[in-house]
Amino acid sequence: VSVDSPTKQKFSPGIFLRYDCRASEEELMRIETQRLTLRLENPFTIAHGTTTERQNVLVRICDGERTGVGEAAVVPYYKETPERVINALTDPAVVVALGDDARLLHDALDRLPPSESTAARAALDMALHDLWGQRLGQPLYRLWGLNPARAPVSSFTIALDTDEAAYRDRLRAAPPFSLYKIKLGSGAWQTDLDIARIARETTGAQIAVDANCAWRADDALQIIPRLAALDVAYIEQPIGRDDHDGWRALRDHRAADWPPLMADESAQNAQDVLALNGLADGVNIKLAKCGGLRAALGMVTLARQLGMRAMIGCMVESSVAVTAASHLAPLVDFADLDGNLLLSNDPYRGTRVINGQIHLPDAPGLGVNPVAE
Ligand SMILES: [Mg+2]
Repeated sequence: VSVDSPTKQKFSPGIFLRYDCRASEEELMRIETQRLTLRLENPFTIAHGTTTERQNVLVRICDGERTGVGEAAVVPYYKETPERVINALTDPAVVVALGDDARLLHDALDRLPPSESTAARAALDMALHDLWGQRLGQPLYRLWGLNPARAPVSSFTIALDTDEAAYRDRLRAAPPFSLYKIKLGSGAWQTDLDIARIARETTGAQIAVDANCAWRADDALQIIPRLAALDVAYIEQPIGRDDHDGWRALRDHRAADWPPLMADESAQNAQDVLALNGLADGVNIKLAKCGGLRAALGMVTLARQLGMRAMIGCMVESSVAVTAASHLAPLVDFADLDGNLLLSNDPYRGTRVINGQIHLPDAPGLGVNPVAE
């Protein structure tokens, strides 16, 4: 940090770092965090377990005139906790990294201290992008030169249920989408296939499938050709997160009529995209996994250069994080941006997904606003 103003010499070195960039205390970049309890409209079961509530964390970065907002998704099976996220966000090195000019987005991102919490990193990245877009007066997708009309439809996710009557009720109660992503991983591939057939028949819509690591490769080789016959749009994470032998077995047996096999848990970051080159057909990119919009943009670019499909997904998240992810939708083949639609207490409004159509906001930055109390 450079020392450029004699008037600041009065500060002690520790304080000096924080205040170096500003002439007066009122103009400092400020950062605040807020715990966010998100309640799910219905208990949500996938192969990793059942969820009724999530504890996410919001972060706000204020440059004196504007406030950028970001969200950290606390996903238990990714070993995040609200405490770990808040510790990372309140690291004194973070406020130093923010700098004093919201236009210099990459400078701020480059200066952020390393953190074990990719969710916290993603929240800071979102808030800095929000501030950057507001400072430049354009929505993020405009600043990236993207055409919002090229966003694919979003799927709506249907949780796992092995009670057939309850499952059919759930399918009938879902909002009208042209693509439903159904969660599988009941414990037996034959049961999973029955669930997929019920979903196809009850909705009359196209389905995609997410096994959340549930199958062994030999099970996957049984069910995938049968799912292909149901005209499934794609199959997400058929096998275990680290099962690269499994990915190889699937590749070696791949038939021309199989739907794309998309890696989710196996694809956390750009290194994983490289490792999956020639194995998976594509990757499901999520801000909470890779650490934010800059990293996600890098993963999309890398996947494209390797000839892979790209998908943008989300966690159980409010409209803050889902809207952030949605700005990348014009770049991808598949979108699964429904995390906020599953909530009964979404505190923000941003991107709207209506019958699967993604409507990106016109407002600068992320384009999210708090819901009036
Ligand atoms: Mg998934």
